[in-house]
Amino acid sequence: MTSPVLLPGATGLNGSGQQTTLGVMGGGQLGRMFVQAAQAMGYFTAVLDPDVISPAGLVSHYHIKTGYLDEQGLTQLLQRCAAVTTEFENVPAGALVTLGAARPTAPSADAVAIAQDRIKEKAHLARSGVPVAPYAVIESAAQLAAVTDDLLPGILKTARLGYDGKGQVRVNSHAELAAAWGTLKNVPCVLEQMLPLAAECSVIVARGWDGACVNFAPQRNLHREGILAVTEAYAGNLPPALAEKAVAAAKNIAEELNYVGVLCVEFFVLAEGTPERARLGALVVNEMAPRPHNSGHYTLDACDISQFDLQVRTLAGLPLVQPRQHSAAVMLNLLGDLWPDNLPGHAGLDPAAMNSSATPAWDKVLALPGVHLHLYGKLKAGKGRKMGHLTVTAVTPELARSTALAAAKLLGIAPF
Ligand code: ADP
Ligand code: MG
Repeated sequence: MTSPVLLPGATGLNGSGQQTTLGVMGGGQLGRMFVQAAQAMGYFTAVLDPDVISPAGLVSHYHIKTGYLDEQGLTQLLQRCAAVTTEFENVPAGALVTLGAARPTAPSADAVAIAQDRIKEKAHLARSGVPVAPYAVIESAAQLAAVTDDLLPGILKTARLGYDGKGQVRVNSHAELAAAWGTLKNVPCVLEQMLPLAAECSVIVARGWDGACVNFAPQRNLHREGILAVTEAYAGNLPPALAEKAVAAAKNIAEELNYVGVLCVEFFVLAEGTPERARLGALVVNEMAPRPHNSGHYTLDACDISQFDLQVRTLAGLPLVQPRQHSAAVMLNLLGDLWPDNLPGHAGLDPAAMNSSATPAWDKVLALPGVHLHLYGKLKAGKGRKMGHLTVTAVTPELARSTALAAAKLLGIAPF
């Protein structure tokens, strides 16, 4: 179903007199920032998430607290909402099929189903004009036995439900590979050759119902233990020819999928002078996310229109304009590791604990120029859990970097 233009502040879905309401499947931080962007424009919002205190549910007009496939929950969402989006790729595709039959739903169930499954995803990404890492699909013992030496050392990744490096095992030999597949309960997997990375980057595009497509410039991303740690967004963060190629590939991918919404595509930049780079070229496409992405959070503070604004616009059928970045930016992820005393079991759900002496020294960090603090309202920290992020904006990349390094030092985040 395509979208009519859904103007904020209009009333009258089904003659109800209700304000135009946009819905989102999932109540995490991405849903929260979508809700905040939609509300700033005057929309009402509804979140569907079973968690009673989800980051997005806490700030939304309506929070439907049911499972993602709960018929009553989906019916309530449809009654409330003029259109529906999603904030995580593991929303059951069946739920998006139900929603999409009744309301404009973006991204579509089809696009999300592809992004949910690394095997399907790889086949799609390979058509982007940029190669994927050499890989083998492992769904059977025969496929395991047929793995060739050139894929080792490699990374075994579950085809479904992986995120932030979860569901991945690094393997050096056939024996380790066999053991790792067992550890992953012999579910369908992809084995990828471990590539020599010089850097990683991502491109965020937004594509409308009419096929119009706009993009942010590629971000340079640093991962630690499989989790995004730092994003650097400024002119010169990547060689221009490479950046151009990444943008073209991301747009091709969106086009091929007839994608509607915000899409992020992650890339590897291969190290110079390696046989892999000689064979594959400098740029390899890694994976895509059918939604706004952690590496695009800086757009809230450093661009005249953010990735969440674009998510709202694509969903509501509003015009897409090319974003303009007005400041150099460095984003630091704030993981639960920064709350040492707040590890699971300590704070529980006690809001007072957020003000305890274990709270990071935000006052010191906020004394630095150009610092924007975003906390997601999660009451329980845990190792590797994304609790918030911090964006440093500045006139020059050098200043953004040096201030971000100072903030990192204050917080105990390793330098980059
Ligand atoms: P996730 O879904 O958890 O983000 P990714 O496939 O993006 O999974 O892997 C997480 C990180 O692991 C990547 O950002 C990269 O740093 C590293 N990684 C993944 N695959 C490879 C590879 N084939 N070669 C080298 N590093 C890799
Ligand atoms: Mg990734």
